[in-house]
Amino acid sequence: MLNECDICVVGGGAAGFFAALSAAHTRSELRIQLLERSDKLLSKVLISGGGRCNVTHDCKDPLRMSSHYPRGEAFLAQAFQHFAVNDTIRWFREHGVKLKTESDGRMFPVTDDSNTIAQCLIHEAKDMGVHIVTKCGVRIIHLQKDGFVLETTRGPVKCASLIICTGGGAKDSSLEWVRELGIKTTSLVPSLFTFNLADDPIRELSGVSVPHAAIRIRGKHDYQFGPLLITHFGLSGPAALRLSAWEARKLAEKSYHLDLEVDWTGMGSLQKVEEILRAYAQEHPKKQIVTSRPFPDIPERLWQFLCKRVLDRPFRNWAECGKNLFRSLCHQICAMPAEVKGKTRFKEEFVTCGGVDLQEIDPTTCMSEKIAGLYFAGEVLDIDGITGGFNFQAAWTTGFLAGKDAALRF
Ligand SMILES: Cc1cc2nc3c(=O)[nH]c(=O)nc-3n(C[C@H](O)[C@H](O)[C@H](O)COP(=O)(O)OP(=O)(O)OC[C@H]3O[C@@H](n4cnc5c(N)ncnc54)[C@H](O)[C@@H]3O)c2cc1C
Repeated sequence: MLNECDICVVGGGAAGFFAALSAAHTRSELRIQLLERSDKLLSKVLISGGGRCNVTHDCKDPLRMSSHYPRGEAFLAQAFQHFAVNDTIRWFREHGVKLKTESDGRMFPVTDDSNTIAQCLIHEAKDMGVHIVTKCGVRIIHLQKDGFVLETTRGPVKCASLIICTGGGAKDSSLEWVRELGIKTTSLVPSLFTFNLADDPIRELSGVSVPHAAIRIRGKHDYQFGPLLITHFGLSGPAALRLSAWEARKLAEKSYHLDLEVDWTGMGSLQKVEEILRAYAQEHPKKQIVTSRPFPDIPERLWQFLCKRVLDRPFRNWAECGKNLFRSLCHQICAMPAEVKGKTRFKEEFVTCGGVDLQEIDPTTCMSEKIAGLYFAGEVLDIDGITGGFNFQAAWTTGFLAGKDAALRF
């Protein structure tokens, strides 16, 4: 039997729930259905942020907020004018969920429990009469004069407006059913991962972290700054994750085999590092190089490792540090080469780079410019942010805008 509704939302994740709720809050009399392929609702919300759900980031300025998205910056700069971080905080507060901010700007529910967010969304959807159907995967969409007919695993569904919130995907083929509607997509590659440095002895320092480091692809201009962690596999931590996000496409092109450059001082300037080293050498000529650190943020084990890589004699003091040795030391400290041979997932947290091409989507409504009544929200769009709550904020914003506009069309 054909199941009919006014607005159909495909995908029961963060964007799907926000889209359905935004539509219901805008026009409560509308018949809204939310279809979820699996038997679980909001599964990523539940596992996100280590089970705490990093809901958003404490960045109230829409333009500054949008600069945290390697893909989608210009689109979100416009979208955030209509629904941004403050709106998310208010929305959850009005629905009984208080958020708190951690020192690095990440925002979590005060309960430190992602279940608080999931239950809030599910209860509100039920209260607002959203009809939720699980184990209902959408396979094909047929465009009709007066809306859409969806072929699903639980039979056909007819709707006047359609909001697609199916999240990211590993394979380009996962968006085939969207492309069949004539919607353009960009290719899908992973973002947010850590770097494998197979065979590199630095991995022996697993567990050592540097609070202010910088990292970049060798030969490229831009560094990514932040804490860097040496792991059993290679390099991780916020600076590595940021690089994986900003350079997601380039890294995929190279099949995750390429050279990086690590600046353990985080200064991003060979000249400055040289100046500091020279001043230190002049002040402490009798001190042994390997046991005295001009950069206190570089942990002792790492400093000794870097020195031993270039020192011919371990007990040299600073007065004995010749020109060539000095240069080699500077390079180890602020331009250490690291050969990447593959990637690893970061705590199972990852997002997709690529998706529905933003050029054909209105950033103020998230509606397709080609097909009236068809909307996209969340990670299915070619939008992804760095870690810190940015990906959920994109889902809340685009879901909210899509749901509201879809409801206003009636
Ligand atoms: C382990 C992990 C931790 C994370 N932690 C954070 C964090 O703390 N903060 C943050 O900002 N971001 C985090 N992220 C990223 C964030 O979870 C996603 O960006 C966000 O969930 C995207 O929301 P979405 O609704 O667009 O997609 P999803 O949450 O992926 O939801 C899409 C839904 O659509 C369903 N679906 C797909 N295809 C169909 C179909 N054909 N028919 C019906 N249903 C379909 C899927 O089953 C899924 O339930 C994390 C990601 C992971 C993997």
